[in-house]
Amino acid sequence: MSRLVVVSNRVPVPDKGGIAPAGGLAVALKVALEEHGGLWMGWSGKSSGEHEPQTLAQLHQGNITYALTDLTDTDVEEYYQGFANRVLWPICHYRLDLAEYGRKEMAGYFRVNRFFAHRLAPLVKPDDVIWVHDYHLIPLAAELREMGLKNRIGFFLHIPWPPADVLFTMPVHEEIMRGLSHYDVVGFQTDHDLENFAGCLRREGIGDELGGGRYSAYGRVFKGDAYAIGIETAAFAEFAKKASTNKTVKRTRESIGNRSLIIGVDRLDYSKGITQRIDAFERFILDNPAQHGHVTYLQITPKSRSEVPEYESMQRMVAEQAGRVNGALGAVDWVPIRYINRSIGRHILAGLYRLGKVGLVTPLRDGMNLVAKEYVAAQDPDDPGVLLLSRFAGAARKLNGALLVNPYDIEGTANAMARALSMPLEERKQRWKTMMDHLLEHDVTRWCQDFLDDLTGRPNQPGEHS
Ligand code: UDP
Repeated sequence: MSRLVVVSNRVPVPDKGGIAPAGGLAVALKVALEEHGGLWMGWSGKSSGEHEPQTLAQLHQGNITYALTDLTDTDVEEYYQGFANRVLWPICHYRLDLAEYGRKEMAGYFRVNRFFAHRLAPLVKPDDVIWVHDYHLIPLAAELREMGLKNRIGFFLHIPWPPADVLFTMPVHEEIMRGLSHYDVVGFQTDHDLENFAGCLRREGIGDELGGGRYSAYGRVFKGDAYAIGIETAAFAEFAKKASTNKTVKRTRESIGNRSLIIGVDRLDYSKGITQRIDAFERFILDNPAQHGHVTYLQITPKSRSEVPEYESMQRMVAEQAGRVNGALGAVDWVPIRYINRSIGRHILAGLYRLGKVGLVTPLRDGMNLVAKEYVAAQDPDDPGVLLLSRFAGAARKLNGALLVNPYDIEGTANAMARALSMPLEERKQRWKTMMDHLLEHDVTRWCQDFLDDLTGRPNQPGEHS
């Protein structure tokens, strides 16, 4: 394959010792970049104040170059906080009630994508393969094409794609759809997202499904498919096993004693269904008096996007809710919910997942949900816990051994908690094995390979390169 160029909003730049931040995506893409030599470009996460940043910071590690640009305060506000986080994120998570449209923000989004394209283009060689990630950068290929680039360009959306009725509430939906048509491969997490996308093409006669995973729109032909992202399964299982000697994990195990641990790990985000989950836990405790004092629910919830008002108010709401339940149901020697509002390193998380008899993953909507996959990979094969999974997480499409729940159905979720805690060992083992076999086969390296095979292997656009 030719050289790989990856573009994403943020870049997991290695530290001075060459260690990249942990995370399956960073690891998988780094492997692909190392294999073919490559460039990873994105925003530095820093602001250049009022003035447009003049230079692109470049860092070379082996045969990989990391190229980072700052953005102005206005760019950060309009492109990132404004359009990406307050329009595309809620819309793609089916929350059109939370989307806030502003002409300035919409213009900022397209402007920053153009700026990225202008910074990237001089670094791209004619036979480079470009892989763009996520909702921040949908218009990037269109901008690069406008500058004359004929490279193969692929796009992968890490979050869900909504149905036409939801997407079309966005005033610039047409530009977003057109933006996608400029890629050679458009990848979604699940078949549902792909179906929604095809529905959006059909609805206003924007495009056609040509068969064989090919689509046409705006005079272009491209491939669209579902590529469910995986985790580094084998490595994660290994961290989890080793983590039993970690100080924090040991202390947690001791403090839980012989109570059953239920664990939830989610960024503080309205898509994650945290308040519904706490309601369900409360219902479960009220309905099962025999469990009083015998379960602990640990909810690890790092803050995120605090600059967005919905996130700030949610932070208060969840903290109050956990406090109220503890106050009402707890005893002098039992705190039902342990609510942690900060981030925990993945190596420690792996050990905590393994202590959990039940993994609660109940988003209202989620592209994939890697926590669900990590929870499974972290289990002890001889005594695995039960994954209680929302049917609205992308992960539910393939994790057949999970107990599926509808997170809007509080009583149903509470009943599933009771069922999970009393599930016999044989059933737990069987369910876990089905999921683990799947995760070992479909890990993040395979995901990366599948996408890149399609991106490099497809025939050219009609009339191009011929
Ligand atoms: N994570 C972490 N520390 C935390 C909470 C989460 O490292 O305190 C990691 C978690 O292990 C997972 C990722 O953050 O790899 C969350 O990915 P997911 O797909 O579940 O949700 P997202 O936050 O991307 O919506």
